[in-house]
Amino acid sequence: MDRLSGSASLMIVSDLDFTMVDHLDQENLSLLRFNALWEAYYRQNSLLVFSTGRSPTIYKQLKNEKPLLTPDIAIMSVGTEIMYGESMIRDDDWEKYLNHKWNKEIVLEETAKFPDLTPQAETEQRPHKVSFFVETIKALEIIKTLRELLENRGLDVKVIYSNAKALDILPKRADKGQALSYLLKKFIANGKVPISTLVCGDSGNDAELFSIPEVYGVMVSNAQEELLQWHAGNAKNNSKIIHATERCASGIIQAIGSFRLGPNVSPRDIKDIQTCKGEIFGPTHEVVKFYLFYERWRNAEVEKSIEYMKILRLVLFPLGTFVHPSGVEQSVEHCIEAMTRLYGDKQGKQYRVWLDQVSAAQVGSDTWLVKFYKWELSGAERHCCLTTALLSSKVYLETILFIFVVISLLYLPLNGVMAKVPDGFTWMHMHQTWLDGSAPEKQTTWLF
Ligand SMILES: [Mg+2]
Repeated sequence: MDRLSGSASLMIVSDLDFTMVDHLDQENLSLLRFNALWEAYYRQNSLLVFSTGRSPTIYKQLKNEKPLLTPDIAIMSVGTEIMYGESMIRDDDWEKYLNHKWNKEIVLEETAKFPDLTPQAETEQRPHKVSFFVETIKALEIIKTLRELLENRGLDVKVIYSNAKALDILPKRADKGQALSYLLKKFIANGKVPISTLVCGDSGNDAELFSIPEVYGVMVSNAQEELLQWHAGNAKNNSKIIHATERCASGIIQAIGSFRLGPNVSPRDIKDIQTCKGEIFGPTHEVVKFYLFYERWRNAEVEKSIEYMKILRLVLFPLGTFVHPSGVEQSVEHCIEAMTRLYGDKQGKQYRVWLDQVSAAQVGSDTWLVKFYKWELSGAERHCCLTTALLSSKVYLETILFIFVVISLLYLPLNGVMAKVPDGFTWMHMHQTWLDGSAPEKQTTWLF
């Protein structure tokens, strides 16, 4: 919550299953599109909040299965648990607040009277959430009776039915919407209210997110009937809520564009990434762009042209060094040669690269220190390196041009036109270390 020194330019509060994550999209392309957009343009000055019905346990499972970014704030278990940052520090004040007229033991006693309620897994039974599965046909009657029984026992609860199967019982004070209201109040108290907030959802337990005044909202195209009906009955005339025509994360990108909340063209949607000039040019965009090119090169999704290699020689400082995560220092020339050799080596292997938590700090008038987690997925294997790169804008251009000319004279045929120097940054140095437990068995298979 304190990562930003001022107000967030945009705060996205998104549900996960079938909103941020499309379980029907085996290649996770819409999620990867969102990831590239967020890390290139938003991570530095905006906040990403995931609001899910999942407990921390099955949230972590999803994170291991899908290319999910690390959120700034995670609201878990249908708004009953709030956690901050990468280390997921719990908000104990929120949980104390939820104790009002709540007693989990009584909820368990009363629900035991309904044989049609099938308890969800033990990991999903949380201090302020008791969860079951029940058929739609029986749900309404059970909810009505259960509410009365719990009220008679002195509790004040909320019963939420989602995805036509899941029934959650929570304290009256908890749900995704109230957790978001609580966060917004904290931002007001700290003088850091986000300039815009966009909530994103697909099912019944997301409805309360759309009830918060002043927020923009997107129901993704694949939203469930229960949410669409809620919208028709409660928020039909609210022009700040749209029903996207695109599924899941692509619907979120669509909403960013519709509400004009900021850049809405994902770097993944730009075909010739290496020569493109982005809407906003910055070191975070540079690293995202570079690794997209890298992915496409290894997937043979770009042409194997001498032009690209010339540009690469300009982008990577010839006298720079790269510290491989194994600890071995390599020359830039060695890296470029290795990359040339590996053109298309990942073709047909479901190979994807994405960056997480990209941050850039200006350390000189034209120099930036950029840090990020670089993830690689190749088939079923996933690896990650914490990467630090020193990037410089054009100050070294003349030196590089000189070296380029020398290298050209020595190594390259002189029949080509000189490569056009790209606008942007030069990678001076790069240092990588393995994220705990994520190194491949054979470390030499990792390039950079
Ligand atoms: Mg959902």
